[in-house]
Amino acid sequence: MKNRILIVGHGLSGALLAQAFLNKNQIVDVCEANLPYHASKVAAGLVNPLIGPKLNPPTDLHACLTAINHLTDYFQKKCGVKFYQSIPLLRVFKNHEQAGLWNKRSITHPDLCITKEILSQKEATHHGVEAPHGLGVTNCMRLHIAAFLQYSKHQLKETDHWISGLDMYETKDYDKIIFCEGFRVMHNPWFSHIPIAPVRGEILGIDSSLNTSVSNGTWAIPITENHFIAGSTWDHKIIETGPSPEGKEQILKSLHFIKIDTRKISKHLSGVRTGTIDRNPTLGCHHKNKKLFLFNGFGSRGSTTIPLHAKQMVEYVLGRAPLPAKIDITRFNKLNHLTK
Ligand SMILES: Cc1cc2nc3c(=O)[nH]c(=O)nc-3n(C[C@H](O)[C@H](O)[C@H](O)COP(=O)(O)OP(=O)(O)OC[C@H]3O[C@@H](n4cnc5c(N)ncnc54)[C@H](O)[C@@H]3O)c2cc1C
Repeated sequence: MKNRILIVGHGLSGALLAQAFLNKNQIVDVCEANLPYHASKVAAGLVNPLIGPKLNPPTDLHACLTAINHLTDYFQKKCGVKFYQSIPLLRVFKNHEQAGLWNKRSITHPDLCITKEILSQKEATHHGVEAPHGLGVTNCMRLHIAAFLQYSKHQLKETDHWISGLDMYETKDYDKIIFCEGFRVMHNPWFSHIPIAPVRGEILGIDSSLNTSVSNGTWAIPITENHFIAGSTWDHKIIETGPSPEGKEQILKSLHFIKIDTRKISKHLSGVRTGTIDRNPTLGCHHKNKKLFLFNGFGSRGSTTIPLHAKQMVEYVLGRAPLPAKIDITRFNKLNHLTK
């Protein structure tokens, strides 16, 4: 007999998880309340393999990229759309040390670095970028999150598996309920003990052309011929508020490497990333109520990590495989004085 599964939340995690269940011929209902400040509404969708000031590739990168490639092929066959697309990203170095790290990465990870040598300021000027320490080109991808969410919602609605609104479902109608609520997990009475570390981030939309994606940690990404987005900020203290003048100022200041006409700023948004204190996602079952599950904690890298973790979660919920210890919710049991 098939499980009756409900997913609560249709941000990137809920949507990718729902699609992963459908791929395994499972039936799922999805409930979405369209609440404010959710990460997937503002995220750029970048899959950037060389992250942070140290340009470190994450340890699980290979497995994540494999899952993304499978997913891309799956949707291309299913609906003819390539939701993940390859994009070259100009990485502007902040100093000579970063340029040196780039040289190292281009030897150890030639697949991630498109340029084998550091490009000079002269070449940067050609791209309209100020880069006194030079720049390198990274092999990135971008997930078109809005298009993917729209596709997934349409499919669930068409098949009558979409529920709109807050608490608009009956718990007794389901065998398994999986919460994918982003930062709002902190208000969920079953899982509010999970030590999450929410971080608010802001982005700007600018009605101007930008011919290539560029970043020095703060990024600017062309969306259409005459519009690009830029971000973002990190605020650990004030979470559920909208965008702020300070956030805007911070983004503009960090983007000193390109010219921006501030009169053309047409959008200013804010959303909340859900991290955990150990920076790993949190997946698993409630310690007492075995019908309730959590799929959360994807921080600032959901487009990279969720496809892999959605596959692992499906196997786990269907009782076919355990979760990797690093992401299993039970790692917090000791901290919360819980027993299995
Ligand atoms: C400014 C910014 C930029 C980012 N850029 C990138 C990037 O370039 N690349 C990248 O990989 N990641 C990026 N991220 C992170 C990425 O957005 C997240 O990892 C990902 O979107 C998390 O998705 P989620 O579904 O877990 O959470 P959310 O996007 O927060 O979605 C949760 C959903 O659940 C719904 N919900 C919550 N509670 C309930 C309830 N009780 N009932 C019904 N519905 C409910 C909400 O309405 C929401 O739609 C960025 C984040 C921010 C804030």
